[in-house]
Amino acid sequence: MSTPSRFDRGHTDDLMSFLAASPSPYHAVANAAARLEKAGFQQVRETDAWDASVGGKYVLRGGAIIAWFVPEGASAHTPFRIVGAHTDSPNLRVKPLPDTGAFGWRQVAVEVYGGTLLNTWLDRDLGLAGRLTLRDGSHRLVNVDRALLRVPQLAIHLDRSANDGLKLDRQKHLQPIWGLGDVAEGDLIRFLEQEEGLAEGEVTGWDLMVHSIERPSYLGRDNELVAGPRMDNLISVHAGTAALAAASTAAGLPFIPVLAAFDHEENGSQADTGADGPLLGTVLERSVFARGGSYEDKARAFAGTVCLSSDTGHAIHPNYAERHDPTHHPRANGGPILKVNVNQRYATDGSGRAVFAAACERAGVPWQHFVSNNAMPCGTTIGPITAARHGIQTVDIGVAILSMHSARELCGADDPHMLANALRAFLES
Ligand SMILES: [Zn+2]
Repeated sequence: MSTPSRFDRGHTDDLMSFLAASPSPYHAVANAAARLEKAGFQQVRETDAWDASVGGKYVLRGGAIIAWFVPEGASAHTPFRIVGAHTDSPNLRVKPLPDTGAFGWRQVAVEVYGGTLLNTWLDRDLGLAGRLTLRDGSHRLVNVDRALLRVPQLAIHLDRSANDGLKLDRQKHLQPIWGLGDVAEGDLIRFLEQEEGLAEGEVTGWDLMVHSIERPSYLGRDNELVAGPRMDNLISVHAGTAALAAASTAAGLPFIPVLAAFDHEENGSQADTGADGPLLGTVLERSVFARGGSYEDKARAFAGTVCLSSDTGHAIHPNYAERHDPTHHPRANGGPILKVNVNQRYATDGSGRAVFAAACERAGVPWQHFVSNNAMPCGTTIGPITAARHGIQTVDIGVAILSMHSARELCGADDPHMLANALRAFLES
């Protein structure tokens, strides 16, 4: 039994299902879209003409989703309130010629995606998931969610120095095995075609990655923590989706609430589905023009717009306290964090702090400050990119976790729902 919580564990249970069902960015946006459809949102295609109708809409492009709700009475210059996040996580991704192996082992050739904690992928049972492109150009999501692959660590007997600082060669040491047998060209893709009941040769393109098949779980004496994969940053995607769905039921919205979840944050956001691409600006602009707006209306709308860019940050680590700032100590279950960096690795300024503090106050949610130790490099996220690219006031916030970029991360069990409540309050007022 878990101790009673001020916050809704139903939200956390749903997050855990979302994490397990979203082994790739393509799955994450499909699952976000399914939740929004339930709340009455409808997909609009970028290749279609858009209209001025009210209601919930969303655009899907690869591993990115932009969703927004046009309330009754919205004008062409009504400003937006945006929750920003990213759908991708560091992992191992399949190379163009995947079939490799040696000495009777079948292996899959992989590249390292993003700033992965490499050792966390060793000796885990791994599945394979992603997106297949078929001969007719259509896409199909694939998820082999069973123990299919493993990156076996070298035995201690063969490397007595392993515990003195493990060195992993990104090319040589990370190629997973997936069974025994001769290496045959086309083997992996044929296997996936069979899994999916597709004819041989039907798959002509793929974007595939490995994932740990271990389920997310509550953890700790009182189940006050959650362990799971891809918390960075599916916690924010999930919370933003819940917040937007909830905000769409509010009466008299003074803004157009938006969820913008991008792909490719972990390698710099420079992609057509990344925050450094035109996707968000194009969608917002088209929404203004569809309501009969002019360039002037767009400029007015953007000038009144605020974005809360939500991503994970570092909770204070009890074994490495000296790596953190000496006085700013974000804690698990202490509520969402406001991320500040005066050199604009985070976009937050004092006026943004006030927006975030007001949202948390309205939601009845405690919140915390995050700032890096001056001697440590500071991470960054989509916040500064969104601010600079679109000229939109942006505030960097998030949830404090441990083990960031591990194959299995750790957060407080109450923080995800506190984040969702704060995001909802921000979108609604
Ligand atoms: Zn992140």
